[in-house]
Amino acid sequence: MAKKGSLTINSENIFPIIKKWLYSDHDIFYRELVSNGCDAITKLKKLEIMGEWQKPEDLEFKIQVITDPNEKTITFIDNGIGMTVEEVDQYINQIAFSGAQDFLEKYKDKANEEQIIGHFGLGFYSAFMVADKVTIDTLSYKDGAKPVHWESDGGTEFEMVDGDKAEQGTTIKLYLNEESLEFCNEYRAKEVLEKYCSFMPVEIYLTNAAAEPQFETIEKDELTDKDTVIETIVEEAKTEEKENENGEKVVVEISPATEKYKIAKRPVPVNDTNPLWNKHPNECTEEEYKGFYRKVFHDYKEPLFWIHLNMDYPFNLKGILYFPKLNINYDSLEGTIKLFNSQVFIADNIKEVIPEFLMLLKGVIDCPDLPLNVSRSALQNDGFVKKISDYITKKVADKLTGMFKTDRENYEKYWDDINPFIKFGCLKDEKFAEKINDSLIFKNLEGKYLTIAECLEENKEKHENSVFYITDEKEQSQYVNMFKEAGLDAVYMTQNIDNPFVGYLEQKNENVKFLCINSDLSDIFKEEVSEEDKEAMKADVDALTELFRKVLGKETLDVKVEKLKNEAVSSMITVSEESRRMAEMMKMYSMP
Ligand code: ADP
Ligand code: MG
Repeated sequence: MAKKGSLTINSENIFPIIKKWLYSDHDIFYRELVSNGCDAITKLKKLEIMGEWQKPEDLEFKIQVITDPNEKTITFIDNGIGMTVEEVDQYINQIAFSGAQDFLEKYKDKANEEQIIGHFGLGFYSAFMVADKVTIDTLSYKDGAKPVHWESDGGTEFEMVDGDKAEQGTTIKLYLNEESLEFCNEYRAKEVLEKYCSFMPVEIYLTNAAAEPQFETIEKDELTDKDTVIETIVEEAKTEEKENENGEKVVVEISPATEKYKIAKRPVPVNDTNPLWNKHPNECTEEEYKGFYRKVFHDYKEPLFWIHLNMDYPFNLKGILYFPKLNINYDSLEGTIKLFNSQVFIADNIKEVIPEFLMLLKGVIDCPDLPLNVSRSALQNDGFVKKISDYITKKVADKLTGMFKTDRENYEKYWDDINPFIKFGCLKDEKFAEKINDSLIFKNLEGKYLTIAECLEENKEKHENSVFYITDEKEQSQYVNMFKEAGLDAVYMTQNIDNPFVGYLEQKNENVKFLCINSDLSDIFKEEVSEEDKEAMKADVDALTELFRKVLGKETLDVKVEKLKNEAVSSMITVSEESRRMAEMMKMYSMP
């Protein structure tokens, strides 16, 4: 058999799309070719489940990636389903004809234990972003199938001849172009594989064809029949001649004879084929959650707590969201939500799918049902995607409100770390705000955490329906003293986000006034002054008025002096709530 031909292009828009990829993530071909190998193996596993294929005893499913810097090639080998001539013609020669979709269509309801990665349709052709020439050698699992060799040098021409592949599966070899040689560097390859393939469902082994062979030495009982023994290392028993109590000479054994083996270094897969999010939450231990967090996010501070998402209906979604410990040294909050599609990494922080405020968390979300072959803007307007996003938001809110109700002690303990996240959520997401509203707490002067209702209760006797707050602990320490002396309470609102958040609270709680403790609270603190006293104070008031007018350069400034009830402070300047907030807003906008 030999065939030459022109590649059939289903859509004339395909090449511009490939070209567009050319300008963005070059490394993505690794993901596409490895996930095709995974798909090929998953398909075979499905056929096995359905009883249409019998797995040979000694066959171990795996994907090998071999980089060869001398040859300037990368080879991807899988022992999956393989392709017949007809299949190569149909699935490879017809660009953008997604075989995965075809397969799914055919076997849709028969076996759904395993998910098929695919949907992208252009996956294989991404190889041409980095390669001048690509070859395929494949042998179908089907009885009597003949091996096929296919090659193309990146134009729209291909050549297909009989091949010589002896084992079932597919080998794809990329002859890299000069600009893409970095990808046959073993370390670069490892980096890319870790980025995209860390949790793919089939073991992936990376080797460097140009590297010196590596060895390791193991104990006798560690040897398995998979090891290649290079050398057996025998150490004789060590003995010593000693004299016993009777003065006789005896031989004493100091260390026994040992046998060790020098073996070819065992390869370790680059991926974890069964990520924690796939396990049932009841079966996961705290240690596993923490270990997974460390491994994925390289964060050695322990997470505070986490939410394990696990949903089958009406859509398939699994994942783990972690609440990280706040980094006090950095005011900026930046989390990462990694999005997967059937264990294939898609991207970090896809804002079309994950609500913006959740990106302050760290987590993984795997959603095989996600329509990824559409553009981002289509994703944004997709009703299904909206449902996913709403579900995640609801789960997070439920976790927090549940904790507030049943474990308030811990909730309070975490509050300092989680409150910026919750406040941001309230400002950004109405549904979240609605749910979390009654679980908002505020730290008061005694360090206790109170809800708004509890705050109002504290001040009830002295003042109706106001919540007093502190925006700057140091600057407002005198006011704090005065408040304490007067037996009044106030809460801390000292973070950047608190400024807009106070505005939000006011809208939400129409009957409650929110007042900074340095605002004009003279109705609480001033004392009635008799006419005589007023006379006596007049000279002082005039002098003060003069002083302020001069310092501020404002001749028309109106200065009012009141007498304080309070002994704790000798004098205080008050700013109206409105002008203070305005000033703070200005400060925020002018910040670099
Ligand atoms: P998709 O994976 O979205 O279907 P691709 O361009 O990645 O699109 O692959 C096209 C088709 O080629 C696949 O659906 C599959 O039928 C076939 N194919 C590609 N790689 C392999 C492989 N390693 N083993 C078997 N079939 C493959
Ligand atoms: Mg593919």
